[in-house]
Amino acid sequence: MATTKVKAIVLGGTNVKEKDRIVSLYTLEQGKISVSMKGVRGDKAKMKFAKEIFCFADFIIEEGKNIPVVTGADIIDNFYGLSQDIDKYYEACAILDIVSKHSGESNPQLFIDIIKALKALCYENLEKYYVFDKFLLNYLKIMGYDFFTDRCSSCKATLGHRYLNLEVGEQVCPACKNALSVQISDACYAVLRAFDEKDYADLASVKVSNNGHLAACGLLSKDYEWRTGNKILEIK
Ligand SMILES: [Zn+2]
Repeated sequence: MATTKVKAIVLGGTNVKEKDRIVSLYTLEQGKISVSMKGVRGDKAKMKFAKEIFCFADFIIEEGKNIPVVTGADIIDNFYGLSQDIDKYYEACAILDIVSKHSGESNPQLFIDIIKALKALCYENLEKYYVFDKFLLNYLKIMGYDFFTDRCSSCKATLGHRYLNLEVGEQVCPACKNALSVQISDACYAVLRAFDEKDYADLASVKVSNNGHLAACGLLSKDYEWRTGNKILEIK
């Protein structure tokens, strides 16, 4: 039978039969796939840890009757710390929720972002939601919605006061805004810039105002919901 190796992160799963589990993986090579893990709920199961949410591993998969079957797993990191801190856990779950709703084929950039985000959440002591907001910012960028522009998307004037037109996800000037445009304050924009400039591991050095961060959170969430039609997992 054909065997393939994929690098993947466990997004979640459902128990089936006595000791099996159907697991949802986000893979580097194939995007999101569902796989079957047999006997993994037994106490002495070899792949006991490979079925858990956040597990990052090289998985060996074989063609199965209905879905591929995992026959081996070489764990790279299970991000154990995430399950030991309720705040970190929920923030990580919100990230994986976005990934599990992501449609489309494999996306190496998104894969790298997920791993970097989980690593920073697990091993750094960062302000709440910094990692989530940076992930959301990057995710929107991957989808083709970049916040960093100096021109109104409609009339091409240089942007002073800027607004986000939620209908199309583009920035407009005061003259071009409509009823579905929300203002992006200077404080909010400064936060987006700060998150964009730093890598996940360096987010501790980001110093931003609380108000700016709250505004950025709100704007990113709204933009995500309008762009995808999905809700953000309630974590706040
Ligand atoms: Zn304009």
